[in-house]
Amino acid sequence: MTVRWIDDLRSTDLDAVGGKAASLGELTAAGLPVPPGFVVTASTYRTFLETTGIGSEIFDALAADDGLAAAAETARELIVETPVPDEVREEILAAYRELGSDDDETDADPFVAVRSSATAEDLPDASFAGQYETILNVTAEDLIDRIKECWASLFSERAVHYRNNHGFDHEAVDIAVVVQRMVDAEKSGVMFTRHPSTGDRQMIVESAWGLGEAVVSGMVSPDHYEIDPEPPTVVESTVADKKQQMVKDPETGETALQPVDDERRTARVVTDEEIEQLVGLGQRVEDHYGEPQDVEWAIADGELFMLQSRPITTISEGDSGATPAEASAEQPTANGGQNSPPQETVTDPDTGTGDDVLVRGVSASPGTASGEVRLIRKLDHLDQVTEGDVLVSSMTTPDMVPAMQRAAAIVTDEGGMTSHSAIVSREMGVPAVVGTRTATEVLDHAQQVTVDGEMGTVSEGRPAVDVAAETEYDPVESVRPQTPVKPMTATEVKVNLSIPEAAERAAATGADGVGLLRIEHMVLSLGKTPEQYIADHGEDAFIDQLVDGIRTVAEAFYPRPVRARTLDAPTDEFRDLDGGSDEPHEHNPMLGYRGIRRSLDKPDPFRCELRAFRRLFDAGYDNVELMLPLVNDSEDVDRAKRHLEAVGIDPAKARWGVMVETPASALLIEEIAAEGIDFVSFGTNDLTQYTLAVDRNNEYVTDRFDELHPGVLSLIESTIETCRELGVDTSICGQAASKPEMVDFLVEAGISSISANIDAVRDVQHEVKRIEQRLLLDSVR
Ligand code: PEP
Ligand code: MG
Repeated sequence: MTVRWIDDLRSTDLDAVGGKAASLGELTAAGLPVPPGFVVTASTYRTFLETTGIGSEIFDALAADDGLAAAAETARELIVETPVPDEVREEILAAYRELGSDDDETDADPFVAVRSSATAEDLPDASFAGQYETILNVTAEDLIDRIKECWASLFSERAVHYRNNHGFDHEAVDIAVVVQRMVDAEKSGVMFTRHPSTGDRQMIVESAWGLGEAVVSGMVSPDHYEIDPEPPTVVESTVADKKQQMVKDPETGETALQPVDDERRTARVVTDEEIEQLVGLGQRVEDHYGEPQDVEWAIADGELFMLQSRPITTISEGDSGATPAEASAEQPTANGGQNSPPQETVTDPDTGTGDDVLVRGVSASPGTASGEVRLIRKLDHLDQVTEGDVLVSSMTTPDMVPAMQRAAAIVTDEGGMTSHSAIVSREMGVPAVVGTRTATEVLDHAQQVTVDGEMGTVSEGRPAVDVAAETEYDPVESVRPQTPVKPMTATEVKVNLSIPEAAERAAATGADGVGLLRIEHMVLSLGKTPEQYIADHGEDAFIDQLVDGIRTVAEAFYPRPVRARTLDAPTDEFRDLDGGSDEPHEHNPMLGYRGIRRSLDKPDPFRCELRAFRRLFDAGYDNVELMLPLVNDSEDVDRAKRHLEAVGIDPAKARWGVMVETPASALLIEEIAAEGIDFVSFGTNDLTQYTLAVDRNNEYVTDRFDELHPGVLSLIESTIETCRELGVDTSICGQAASKPEMVDFLVEAGISSISANIDAVRDVQHEVKRIEQRLLLDSVR
């Protein structure tokens, strides 16, 4: 069957029409107000490939080893350029005409939305959904072409790469296309049938003028209502200043953002009557699915429509129906307060709790876990660390990452809050205590211990009640925003990342992008220095490794920006790798041969890194940005810029910038900005160590490492001021971005974005919103 009507579909039709269409069918059958439409079935797409003969050409191209980009382009071109057989075209257009005469007034040329509905699209993986095309406001003239665009979107480079990576067979994925009457919404929004963080019966409605895309994508701040359903009563409402709305241009049919007139900007969007209708709708949807739902809705000509519904994932079993107070009392504590920002506290030995504390250190990654100690003194003992063990070593190295992932907790002798082991443990969501000085001496192999990453302690035995074992802890869920729609902030809140494996967890935070992607881990985990790797496997193999790592992150975040930084690893981190014996011996590697200095001195590996960026830009990853570490002055930047040009990156077109990590770069920011950078980012881990002369890796001076020192703040403040005058964006990506005091200071100083650790993003979003609101209030008082 070429087409099928939405109202004939059920969830059992998933294979024929894809997940999206099947669920629209279910909702329509339940009597819910879904805009009418039909589906061009998956078998229509399949028959198109087979009867025209292009299917075998496409799959042969994808199977050949001639490069993913070229194969994907061939596939798309074949689909777009091959005509659809006449009888198929006619059947689709006949259904379209019927859709136009579907209601009281016949509309010969109705506007429709054309949406892809792939047979594997709705797998529970956020980065997979939304990869395929959706086109709004289409009419007869270009309907067939738009449907083919949806088919072709199955072969975007990103989609092909994704399927390759996740082991999906290209030939096994089919795509159907939903053609649905456009709802010309005057107002629209989202509704949560229960409170998303507490599971309380309160409903939440957010709404704005115009089409829903503006609310869902976060382009406008919506009104926010909290509603008691019985009887429907608004118990709390915040009416936003809705400066813009998304509307359809009546002439061209294109959707565009337009200013909202003064009168409606601060007016409440939904009436009490509409609230009642929404509550009724919410109840029916919830009854239908038997669980709380997150619903997209729109109102056109006084009629309420629902566009989509999915379960609310933030409510855990047992939360439903609890009061907010009960729900918060139920919050698991076993994950060590994953909900609060990590506190940089070294517990005072004199005031510590309990006698069973064996060692103390820096609380590097929150969470509590118990397990048997595995003392790792040699890298080839790493396989001794099995699932649930506590990994104890003098310092972690990149080779340990797989073992760290298996470990229940990590304890080290050396290091501070900003050392690599701390950064990577936080990213993996594994509790960690670092800088204990003596853990490898005091702790015994196979001893049972409990690591409290929040308190920075390692104690003997297991806690009396092992709450950790009873509470299912999901690191991805633990970082998802708790509020229905993440706090809207003018200052962007981004996330830092070092291991591509953590990309999904980082993306789940709802961050506005990646403010720092450290590539050190991708390189160090190759087990060889860059020079050695290139000598053994060639430049292209090295570039491939970088492209793969950065692309995984760019993919998970697309179209949110990902700021990847060129290599900055001190020589001691290279020492244990193959080729590491050629590294210079330095008294203090932190002050030595690293960052842009090494890159300018060894241009060959540096150019390979830059060529990896070039390949990503060429492949269409326009969300990738390039950042240079540890620059001191415009000469460093100018020399690096010439390398960019040499590999074919146009600095006027790419988005690129520098880290401000040395006092010199802060003091000379004007001349650095004149090089044409788009942004600077404060690396406060280094800026603090160089301003205060405190080695960030030295556990003997941890208490002197103070990112809030007036000397550090003064350099940051003057840099932000100069950059604002020059139109250069400012950001922070050091560990201090996760501290509320630093966030307050930076927002007041006018920073453009803040990039925090994965586990801190949620709190930073709220802190930024709080400060922005206070500044707004102060300005009108
Ligand atoms: C910094 O110095 O603050 C920074 C973010 O870079 P890294 O920690 O990788 O040196
Ligand atoms: Mg740094």
